[in-house]
Amino acid sequence: MPLSTRIFKKRSGKIYKKSEKAVTQVENSSPNVQQTCAKERKIPNIDDSFSAENTGKVVLNSIIDVNILAGVFKNFVNCKNCNSGLELQVLKSTSGLAVSFILNCFQCEYIHEFSSSEFHGGTQITNVNTRYVYALRSIGKGAEACLMFCAVMNLPRPPTRFQEYNKRLLNATRAVCESTMQKAAKEAIVENNSDNNIAVAVDGTWQKRGYTSHNGVVTVTSMDTGKVIDVDVLNKYCACKNKKNHDTSCKSNFRGSSGMMEVKGACNIFKRSLTFHNARYTKYLGDGDSKAFEAIAKENIYGDEFQVEKLECIGHLMKCMGERLRRLKEKMKGQVLSDGKRLSGKKSFD
Ligand SMILES: [Zn+2]
Ligand SMILES: [Zn+2]
Repeated sequence: MPLSTRIFKKRSGKIYKKSEKAVTQVENSSPNVQQTCAKERKIPNIDDSFSAENTGKVVLNSIIDVNILAGVFKNFVNCKNCNSGLELQVLKSTSGLAVSFILNCFQCEYIHEFSSSEFHGGTQITNVNTRYVYALRSIGKGAEACLMFCAVMNLPRPPTRFQEYNKRLLNATRAVCESTMQKAAKEAIVENNSDNNIAVAVDGTWQKRGYTSHNGVVTVTSMDTGKVIDVDVLNKYCACKNKKNHDTSCKSNFRGSSGMMEVKGACNIFKRSLTFHNARYTKYLGDGDSKAFEAIAKENIYGDEFQVEKLECIGHLMKCMGERLRRLKEKMKGQVLSDGKRLSGKKSFD
């Protein structure tokens, strides 16, 4: 079986290199810029400029010493009304990492209030807090780690109730996940010369080892692109009081041994392939000892016309064959074969 040698496409998204000067607007805030017109300001890349016109296009967060910011407003920024310096005050933070600032003129009545973060449309939830919870969730940390990090970094007290953020993040990640899998499946079909009978690799994983895990995930990846095209999450854990009559909110979707999770998940994924991606997974690559393939073959999901074919994983084959060869060598140790040589290849002296 030829292994796919295709190199995966680079991920999209912007990563700022060390040498790149991304924030041109900050450099422009020196006092002499005020005299020059917009055309004379050299902006290397309009997308990298964080001016008022293109907010929402790029979000770049920065940890800033507020004393420096206050110094800039005092010495290098002038009041719109009377040209005097401005005093920066921090309002007591009540919304986690988002800080509210007030600018006061030293001379006149001029006052301006602003927040360090944008809000989600129509809510009191700030983007920076959502992103912070997302970041901690991504590295597997919770509220305790969140507090410690902020304390050491001299940041404001972060949000401690993760629940509302979790719900929003779950909805967002679910939507992104579904659309990227749709895109990946389309790509896989195109790579397969627009034939929607594609080759996939199936594998299951558990939260814990040793077949006692309550949670398992089965993933199906395209053999042509290496991208994930479907996942199935199986959950054995049930918190219902009545184990015979489950609550409607019960998240448990699997009964049986943890080992059977892979079988059930793979079957679920294969059964919905036509409705989800309008594709058939007709070539199956999985572990040699996988029960999942047997179950799929037995169910004859796509009918007799499109039978699922099993591909042998070269890595698994090598492991099994290598093990047997090593065992044979051990068994034949010291024995001379009919041609007078030993199995190990070493010369025989007797
Ligand atoms: Zn003023
Ligand atoms: Zn339940």
